[in-house]
Amino acid sequence: MQDIYELKEQLAQTIRTYHAKGWSPATSTNYSFRENADADVIYISRSGIDKSQFHEEDFMRVAMDGHPVLEDREIKPSAETLIHCVLYRFFPENTVILHSHSVYSVLNSQLFEESISFEGYEIQKGFAGQTTHDNKIHIPILPNSQDMVEFSTWMQARKDEFQHHAFVIRNHGTYAWGKNLFEAKRHLETLEYLLEVNYKKLIVTYK
Ligand SMILES: [Zn+2]
Repeated sequence: MQDIYELKEQLAQTIRTYHAKGWSPATSTNYSFRENADADVIYISRSGIDKSQFHEEDFMRVAMDGHPVLEDREIKPSAETLIHCVLYRFFPENTVILHSHSVYSVLNSQLFEESISFEGYEIQKGFAGQTTHDNKIHIPILPNSQDMVEFSTWMQARKDEFQHHAFVIRNHGTYAWGKNLFEAKRHLETLEYLLEVNYKKLIVTYK
């Protein structure tokens, strides 16, 4: 079992790497982990941190209802904390949630309505449960909202579509999760790769 400091260190490194890819400009995005699948305290990135400078001390603790634990009550959690809490409730086996504000997720979300479909790509096997490139997979697109309670009701209504451990928010970005950091990263990076390929393919096709 990894200790908390090690988990913080590894996720902070991932956050800085993803910032370098352009996935978290202007202090945007948020990330979380739990010590294990039974933990009822979440470590989540605090609000307003430049992700190129993100370090272990920039995580804070919130309870499963999204409120900071007593010791961290002076620190402001990310505005999207409730999305993390809802995802851990939906899929209790997961311990890491990643988020991006990538350009390709925004561009794709402007071209499709309910979901984005992919078929025939080797990298689809990056999504847990996929053993072949032959399947047609659908990644849901949810509308954007500043009201996290409203957004939670949309998540609830479409929970069954979250089969590939990820979704897109229109004109906003992506969320992906996993049983551990390794798996969550694989899901996010698989989705981001597919979104980039898809958009570039469409540009070439319709030129
Ligand atoms: Zn966001």
